Amino acid sequence: MRAKKPTAAQLKEFEDWCAECPPEMQATARKWHPFTCYRDAENPHTHYVITSYGLMPPGDRKAVLVTVLHGADSTLPGVSVFGVQVEHLKPCGCTKWDMPTEEQVEHMREHFAALQRARACAPNQSNPGTPPGSTTKH
Ligand SMILES: [Zn+2]
Repeated sequence: MRAKKPTAAQLKEFEDWCAECPPEMQATARKWHPFTCYRDAENPHTHYVITSYGLMPPGDRKAVLVTVLHGADSTLPGVSVFGVQVEHLKPCGCTKWDMPTEEQVEHMREHFAALQRARACAPNQSNPGTPPGSTTKH
């Protein structure tokens, strides 16, 4: 999968999907569509595609937030970020966004597993001095 010019069939599928969405989401999805790539407005080393749109919090029709996926050449390849405001995205449109490789995804999994282990071993933040895990083991 690459972020590139959509085919007529993809455009029709997008429009059919869009027509079922609340008006605020339609407007956002048409302006910030899923067929191009984006970069964080403050970090040009990121490279995303939008993978979903949502009204946040549910039922609040004013805030449309998106989920983005970091591509192969982005800072966190294979990581999705939930709850991003489109105003923080800068359209890139280079058409070079590409899916992260399996190796990159595995590397990120290992990274997050190590982070999780480090946090599990860290002293209890709310009660310094408490041995690790003492609040969960009875
Ligand atoms: Zn791009």
